[in-house]
Amino acid sequence: MTTNLLNYDIKGLADFCAEIGEKPFRAKQLLRWIHQLGITDFVDMSDLAKSLREKLAALAVIESPQIISDYVAADGTRKWLLSVGADNGIETVFIPEANRSTLCISSQVGCALACAFCSTGKQGFNRNLTVAEIIGQLWIANKMLRASSENVTPDTNRVVSNVVMMGMGEPLANFENVVMALDLMLDDHAYGLSRRRVTVSTSGLVPAIDRLRERCPVALAVSLHAPNDHLRDQLVPINKKYPIKELLAACQRYLIAAPRDFITFEYVMLDGVNDSIGHARELIKLVQDVPCKFNLIPFNSFAGSGFKRSPPEAVRAFRDLLIQAGFVTTVRKTRGDDIAAACGQLAGQVKDKTRRAQRAARMETVK
Ligand code: SAH
Ligand code: SF4
Repeated sequence: MTTNLLNYDIKGLADFCAEIGEKPFRAKQLLRWIHQLGITDFVDMSDLAKSLREKLAALAVIESPQIISDYVAADGTRKWLLSVGADNGIETVFIPEANRSTLCISSQVGCALACAFCSTGKQGFNRNLTVAEIIGQLWIANKMLRASSENVTPDTNRVVSNVVMMGMGEPLANFENVVMALDLMLDDHAYGLSRRRVTVSTSGLVPAIDRLRERCPVALAVSLHAPNDHLRDQLVPINKKYPIKELLAACQRYLIAAPRDFITFEYVMLDGVNDSIGHARELIKLVQDVPCKFNLIPFNSFAGSGFKRSPPEAVRAFRDLLIQAGFVTTVRKTRGDDIAAACGQLAGQVKDKTRRAQRAARMETVK
């Protein structure tokens, strides 16, 4: 059996080297070849002894997911549909801006958490992505984008300066693999991104937030979406297990590990559901004690969602109240919606092991 080296962080590579009778420091050289230079053929790794290169060629591969399609939107947003085997597709989105470029990475095929307004959630869950499939998205983006130097952002000298785990899936439900991929993103021998330029977005898995704080306290975004448990229970069902009070306490604990940081609360604006002035006031009271920013996300619709995007006046009024109360608040620009690359539109092709889609279809016919 060949080993896919894209599955290993520095420690995993050092262990692998030891197993095949090589010095552990080779791990650093391998990381650079694989992640910084995007080399897949061991023959090209010129600072490794010929005997080692031959050994690696016999025992290992460097294998990322396959690109199925590559779309570029009118605003420059680029989306790759990647195959991860057995008819499963995942999506990765690249969002270039003037002084930074963000890659939005998926962590699972589908998602089991079934948030009411999310297209990924509607499709159910198939499986967790491997480390190679998670870091492979950044690896592919770098390789594809480096080909054109206009993609390099001047102040960071990188094609991808920021990573957000906001694609398909709940990253903290695939904890070990996500953390290993995060380690690679931060490792100077691999991508060397700073902790603050890597963001994990979670719907609120409280115990895993605590574990992330201990293991790898990158920037944290929390999908709040409602100012009280009654409403959040309906929109983000995991709230029934980890209600708002527990979630906010976990956010406060998180900031103890990173005291100069803040939590970003994401709030999808759903017309007539969570977007009134009353909701904004309730929200302001709720988060008083948490150092935080808000990111309001205009709802991106998809077939059969049952929700509507809040009108721009409602979003502005909501934002203004938060700003007046002293919270830094941004409204997310909707990028790439002509190629269905906007938040919550990522669908891929999911073989749902939970059979949620079939159940939902049956419910429809019963109604
Ligand atoms: N599972 C994680 C990360 C992936 S979703 C999470 O839920 O945080 C990234 C963000 O997009 C989340 O804030 C999510 O709530 C939001 N989102 C999901 N569906 C959306 C939609 N249809 N329109 C706008 N935002 C959506
Ligand atoms: Fe899963 Fe996040 Fe979508 Fe909720 S919003 S269903 S947690 S991907």
